[in-house]
Amino acid sequence: MILEPTDDQKAFQLRVSMFAAQRIGPAAARIDEHAVFPRALVTEAAALGLMGVTIPTAFGGAGRDYVSYALAIEALARASAVIAVIAAVNNSLVAEPLAEFGTEAQKQAWLRRLATGESLGAFALSEEHAGSDAANQQTVARLDDRGYLLNGRKVWVANAEAADVAIVFAATPPASRGRGIGAFLVPMDASGLSRAMTADSLGVRGLGCMDLELTDVRVDADALLGGPADGFKVAMWALDGGRVAIAAQALGVGAAALDEAIAYAKQHEQFGQPIANYQAIQWMLADSATELDAARMLMLKAADARGRRARPTLEAAMAKLSASEAAHRAADRAMQILASRGYRRGSVVERLFRDVRATEIYQGTSEVQRMVIAEHILG
Ligand SMILES: Cc1cc2nc3c(=O)[nH]c(=O)nc-3n(C[C@H](O)[C@H](O)[C@H](O)COP(=O)(O)OP(=O)(O)OC[C@H]3O[C@@H](n4cnc5c(N)ncnc54)[C@H](O)[C@@H]3O)c2cc1C
Repeated sequence: MILEPTDDQKAFQLRVSMFAAQRIGPAAARIDEHAVFPRALVTEAAALGLMGVTIPTAFGGAGRDYVSYALAIEALARASAVIAVIAAVNNSLVAEPLAEFGTEAQKQAWLRRLATGESLGAFALSEEHAGSDAANQQTVARLDDRGYLLNGRKVWVANAEAADVAIVFAATPPASRGRGIGAFLVPMDASGLSRAMTADSLGVRGLGCMDLELTDVRVDADALLGGPADGFKVAMWALDGGRVAIAAQALGVGAAALDEAIAYAKQHEQFGQPIANYQAIQWMLADSATELDAARMLMLKAADARGRRARPTLEAAMAKLSASEAAHRAADRAMQILASRGYRRGSVVERLFRDVRATEIYQGTSEVQRMVIAEHILG
C-alpha cells in the first residue's frame, strides 16, 4: 500500500506551488483588503490548466487525475484561499458536471471555454431557505412551448461577479423536492437575470459572491443538464468532487498557518529565548502538524476514490469535515502563537484565520457532513 502521490502528481503540485508563490502570494493581501475579484490571476492560472484540471485535453482541459487536481487546489490555497475556491467552483461544480452530464452541444458551447479559462462558471444552488436543505428549491422552472421560464432568487453564488455561465437549479415543477429539480445552463447575460452584491464577507474576500435574481429568464429546453428531474443528482454528484476540493483548500490554508507559526516561533524571543523552545508552543505546533497530516490522508483517499468511481460521498464528507476543522484549529493555534502580531489587522495569520472559517460552511456545513457520514454508517 502506497500512501504517497506519484512522482508525476508531486511534480505537478510543485509547478502549481511555484506559480502560486511567485504570482498569487504577493497579491493575496490586496485581493483580501479590497475584495477584488482576481480575474487576471485566474487567467494566468488557466494557462497552467488549473481551470479544467481533470477535463479531457480534447476539451481544452489538462486531462489530469483527481489527486493532481486536489494537490493543485491545496497549493493554490497556501498562497490564496480565494483563488483556490474560484478554481474549485469552476472545476468541480461547473466544468466537471458539464463533462459528465452535458450533451455534445452543451460541451461544445461551454466546456472548452470553461476549461481554458476563457469563460468562468458559477453554481447557483443555495437559496434563503435552501442552504443545508438544498432540495427545498423555491426557484421555479416552468415549461412552455418555447422552453423554460425561470423565476426565483439564488444567494451566495461564488464567482458570480465575473462568471459567464451558471448552473442554476430550479424546481420543475415546484413542491416535488429533490425529485423534481432541474439543472439549467444559464448564460449570465440572459435577459431577466440580474446579480447583486448583498453581503460583505468575513473571509475569502474577492470571491465575487453575489445573489442572482431571476425574473422570467427564458432558456431553451436543451439548456437542461440531464433530464428535468436530474438536477438534484447533478448537484450532489458535483458536490462530492467539490468537497474533496474544499478539503484541499482547507489544508492549504492550514499549512500556511502552520508555516507562519513555525517561522515566528523560531525567531520571536521571550524570557531570553525563542518561544519555540517552550513545550507549550511545541505541542501546539505538533498538534497542528499531526491533525493536518491525518486530514491530508483522508483528502488523498477521497480524491483517489473520486478518480476511480463517481460517487465517493462518504470519503468526501469525511475529508471535508476533518480538513476544515483541522485547518481551523491550525489557524487558531497560529493566532495564539503570534499573539498580538497575529491579531493585528492585515497580518497574514489574521487573513488565514478569517479565510479558513468558510470551509466549515460552504458546500455543506460541518453538521451536514456529519449527517452524511452518520447516514452511511447507520445504513
Ligand atoms: C463564502 C461563501 C460562498 C458560497 N458559495 C456558494 C456557491 O457558489 N453556490 C451556492 O449554491 N451556495 C454557496 N454558498 C452557500 C453555502 O453553501 C451555504 O451557506 C451552506 O450550504 C449553508 O446554508 P445556510 O447558510 O443557508 O445555513 P442553514 O442551512 O440555514 O444552516 C444554519 C445552521 O443550522 C445547521 N443545520 C441546518 N440543518 C440542520 C440539521 N438538519 N441538523 C443539524 N444542523 C442543521 C447548519 O449546519 C448551520 O449551522 C456559499 C456560502 C458562503 C459563506
